[in-house]
Amino acid sequence: MNRKYRDMEQRLVANSQPDPATGCWIWIGSRHWRRGYGQLAVRVPGKRTPRTLFAHRVAFETLKGPIPAGHEIDHTCRCTACINPDHLEAVTPAENLARRGRSY
Ligand SMILES: [Zn+2]
Repeated sequence: MNRKYRDMEQRLVANSQPDPATGCWIWIGSRHWRRGYGQLAVRVPGKRTPRTLFAHRVAFETLKGPIPAGHEIDHTCRCTACINPDHLEAVTPAENLARRGRSY
């Protein structure tokens, strides 16, 4: 694994706390004001202002692999602050929408 991913992995671990009851890795850094997703600022080479990325998407890409084009990340645990890669699944927007309609 290259250095960039190792650094990001450490950052993800440092900003989350495991919940023994659910197995969720709860993001303890900043959250999206409305949707509750964890977010983190990432420096972009050659740019002055950092980009804000969703923590669960970064966790998926860092720990599982690239997100297929046009896919969204669904939380199978329904906890939007969770970044446990085992609770994240890449789905199409239509599938994500269908899942949200279900009650858990
Ligand atoms: Zn979870």
